[in-house]
Parts: sequence; C-alpha cells; structure tokens
Amino acid sequence: MEKILISSCFLGHKVRYDGGDNLLVNATLKRWQAAERLVVICPELAGGLSTPRPPAEIQLSNENIIVKTNSGEDVTPAFELGAQRALSLCHAHGVRYALLKESSPSCGSSSIYNGEFSQHKVPGQGITTALLRANGIKVFSEKNLLSLIAELS
Ligand code: SF4
Repeated sequence: MEKILISSCFLGHKVRYDGGDNLLVNATLKRWQAAERLVVICPELAGGLSTPRPPAEIQLSNENIIVKTNSGEDVTPAFELGAQRALSLCHAHGVRYALLKESSPSCGSSSIYNGEFSQHKVPGQGITTALLRANGIKVFSEKNLLSLIAELS
C-alpha cells in the first residue's frame, strides 16, 4: 500500500517553532494512520533544531537559499539536514507522496513567508519540499489534501 510522508505537526505533535501543532482532522487521514501508511517527520527537528525555537524564514533577497531566524542567525544547515533526512526516510519507505504544512520554510509547497518576518507570503516552497520534488516525490499541503486523496484512491 502506498505510504505518505506527513508533517509531524499535522498529527498534533507539538513541534512548531512556538511549541504548538497544526492538527489536521480528516477521516481519510485517520484511516491512513490506522493502517500505518503515514511516515512522520518534522524536518526542522530532524535537522537538529528544538521546540520552541526562534521563527525562521527563507531570505529571498539572497542568490543562494539561506534561512535565517528573526535575530539573523543562519540556520540553513539545519534546514538542509532536515530535508536530507526527510528524503532518506522517503527512500527507506518507498514514499512517492508527501503531505506537508503550507507556508513553512521547510514544508511549504506553494507559498512561504517573504523573509522579512512581516507575515506576508509570496509564492515559493520550503527547503524540504524543494528537495523532495527534485527527487520525484509529489508534495501536497492541507490546502489540496482532497487532490492527494483522489490521486491515491
Ligand atoms: Fe510542521 Fe514542517 Fe514546521 Fe515541523 S517543519 S513544525 S513538520 S511545518
């Protein structure tokens, strides 16, 4: 049965930067979880960061992809390591689909914050999403969960 990589915060795990979660309640998701089809990761924790942690955003003004906290600390290596670990997990479980939290600097798939910590979003994708897509994995978010469900049914 097809397995799905999922953002840990969707399952109610308190792994967000602010210590919260992004619980996503959906009957199909519950069925997938009961059938052990979900492969769970928080890329930021997998990359060595802790909860709570300072908010971080991708810096769009740089040529290279750099992630900085709101105090200017460069946390790019942790984000890249988390992305690599997510990809390794996909390879280990034969995962071809991912359901990741929209707008996160790791997990976003169609939008991210603009790097100015101003709550403004722009089109873009997170570091983990970009790596997964570059390796042929289809990434969905809570906004197009129904499309994922349709594709897997
Ligand atoms: Fe959720 Fe992804 Fe942020 Fe972890 S990195 S808290 S899984 S959105």
